[in-house]
Amino acid sequence: SSHDRAVLHNGVQMPWVGLGVYKAEDGDEVIQAIKWAIDAGYRSIDTASLYENEAGVGQAIAESHVPREELFITTKVWNTDQGYERTLEAFNASLERLGLDYVDLYLVHWPVPEMYKETWKALEKIYNDGRAKAIGVSNFKKHHLEDLIADAEIKPMVNQVEYHPRLTQEDLLSYCKEKGIQLEAWRPLLKGEIFEEPTLVELAEKYNKSVAQIILRWDLQNGVVTIPKSVTKNRIEENIDIFDFELTNKDMSRISALNQDKRNGADPDDPEFYK
Ligand code: NAD
Repeated sequence: SSHDRAVLHNGVQMPWVGLGVYKAEDGDEVIQAIKWAIDAGYRSIDTASLYENEAGVGQAIAESHVPREELFITTKVWNTDQGYERTLEAFNASLERLGLDYVDLYLVHWPVPEMYKETWKALEKIYNDGRAKAIGVSNFKKHHLEDLIADAEIKPMVNQVEYHPRLTQEDLLSYCKEKGIQLEAWRPLLKGEIFEEPTLVELAEKYNKSVAQIILRWDLQNGVVTIPKSVTKNRIEENIDIFDFELTNKDMSRISALNQDKRNGADPDDPEFYK
């Protein structure tokens, strides 16, 4: 059911489906979306300092009638805030805007070259101080993870990466499973750009579900946490209504076969991205 949770390597439980709020406007838009989401059964929200809506996320949490400990709030340190001291400051600022005394998950947003190991030390401190229940990374490739783990005191609990039927990340997923790092899918719906894909349309008809639901169910059955974004009530509800059907192994493979190793967002190894 939607109450089932993934168990991270430190024992913390994380909902399989969360609401992504990238480009949800701070204030009424993000607050309303989160209220609809909570009513629909969501307990997890994915924001970042970059999204400039942490204050609205915090307001929605404060106004919700769900106990704080049932919610799972993720935020991230932006690239220009990396390094040990700056990350500690950025974290304090995020907590302040959110109006929280801890987050459930704090992520290194991108593996900024020459910086992310120092940043990780700050996340370890934040975790050891109990101010993040779990810590992780985002947009880390296998080589970044290997490099980080070689020196880390704490292994990341989560790696949040671009993941959808055009970018199935099979090697990274199996590496993360081997290491006990939970993979989490960003841009799981490819912003809706894959909704006409004939195989997905056919499967939607077969299961009497929407294409969005077929894709998000494929995430779950691959053991990947997913965070679709919407600010529209019926879509928010639709995107978590994926616990009442199961894709066959053959249909899972048909979806995976749509892979083109094609990124929609930046390549984490592109130095231009960090300039
Ligand atoms: P997404 O794939 O979730 O697509 C969102 C868009 O798809 C919506 O704006 C809407 O146009 C459409 N949509 C959503 N549900 C639909 C439905 N049921 N029917 C029809 N259309 C629907 O894209 P995203 O927002 O880029 O990614 C999701 C979340 O991942 C973000 O909000 C953010 O929290 C996170 N993210 C993280 C990173 C990172 O670097 N860590 C990068 C991008 C996104």
